[in-house]
This record gives sequence, structure tokens and C-alpha cells, in this order.
Amino acid sequence: MFNIIEKFLSVDGEGPTSGELATFIRFQGCNLRCSWCDTTYSWDKESTSEVLTAEEIYKYIKENKVTNVTLTGGEPLIQRNIHELLELLNSDENLKVHIETNGAVNIGPFKNKFIKNNISYIVDFKLPSSNMMDRMDFNNLSIVESNDVYKFVIGSKEDLEMAYEIICKYNLTSKCFVYLSPVSGNIEMQEIVEFMKDKNLNRVRLQVQLHKIIWDKNARGV
Ligand code: SF4
Repeated sequence: MFNIIEKFLSVDGEGPTSGELATFIRFQGCNLRCSWCDTTYSWDKESTSEVLTAEEIYKYIKENKVTNVTLTGGEPLIQRNIHELLELLNSDENLKVHIETNGAVNIGPFKNKFIKNNISYIVDFKLPSSNMMDRMDFNNLSIVESNDVYKFVIGSKEDLEMAYEIICKYNLTSKCFVYLSPVSGNIEMQEIVEFMKDKNLNRVRLQVQLHKIIWDKNARGV
């Protein structure tokens, strides 16, 4: 059984299918406490709106008749029995599944188990301003593949410098999509663009969170 904070149909606000319809499943519970977290409500068990089985989640996804699925949180990969749901999703090749994971969980065992490539991992890298950088699993930087994303969440100039260092050190742009995603209110997007120009950052994308443009930045279930 899974504690679900919310499930809804909307447009994907970020990632490779940004702007396309997607079914969202937001799980309760996170193993991190980022300083600028915008989904703190996902931390508390009391925020659970329903408890569903893997089959019930899959049924909801299929009823929506939308092929993109985004598993988010909280942290999807720390959910007990998440394998049950991933098995169902991985065996349905009509679905395109994105797992938004916080960078503190090793994605290797999941990649080894769920081998059909209809599952992609959008791996965050939490930088110094999050206060969670020491929790990042650096193995993931070598595991990601061409249909995965590394998303550096940028809250300060120091974060930008650190992201650049890691992108170069791990030659990340040759392995997967690489995004720079600003923490809303902490850094101006212009500053990120200037940094990208200054460093000649090819194959790195500034990611704008679409849902925060379409709806109020604090809106939920959209
Ligand atoms: S990983 Fe995500 S949900 Fe967890 S504390 Fe950080 S921003 Fe919040």
C-alpha cells in the first residue's frame, strides 16, 4: 500500500515532456529536508489523502488515457514496495514513466531490475544552498543514461559554480540531459543565463517550471 498525497492529471511542468499531459502521483515521505523545499506538505503522514495499492494506482493511470506518468514526492524510490508499482508500469510499453528522485537514492538497483526503457530517471542534485549536498549519492552520476536527466537545483551563485564543476568532472552532458533549475525567489534566471554564456555551457538547459507560470506558485494538484 502507498500513502498518496495527491494524484492528478495536468501538464508536465518540467523534464523532457514539459508541456505535455501527464498523470502525476505524489507519494508521501522524504528522506531529505532541503532548506528551500516547496513541497514540505509531502513530509507529513497526516497529509496523506488516500492509501492505494499498486494496482489501484495503475488503474487510475490507465483511466486517464494519458501516456506520460510522473512519479514524484516526497521521494518515490523510498516507498515500501515501490517495486510492485514499477513492475506494472515497466511492463506497459504504452506508458512513458518519469521518476523524479531527489539524488539521495542509488538508482542503480532500479535500473538493473526494470530494464525496459519506458522508465526514465530525473535525478536531482542538491547543491550547497539546500544543506543536503552531503546526502547526494555520487554513484548516480556514473549510472545515468541517455534517456535520463540530471537536474541541478540552483539557489545561489555558489550552487552554479558547484554544478559547473560536477557537470565537467563527470562529463555529464555526454551521458544524459542536463538541466539547471532555479529555486524560485532565490536566484534570477538572467543570472543563470549569464553564467551559461560565460562558461560556454553547451547541451545544458535552463529549466523553467511551467506550472509555476501557469498557476499560482503555491497551487497544489495542478
Ligand atoms: S527532496 Fe524534494 S521533497 Fe524532499 S525535502 Fe528536498 S525538495 Fe522537499
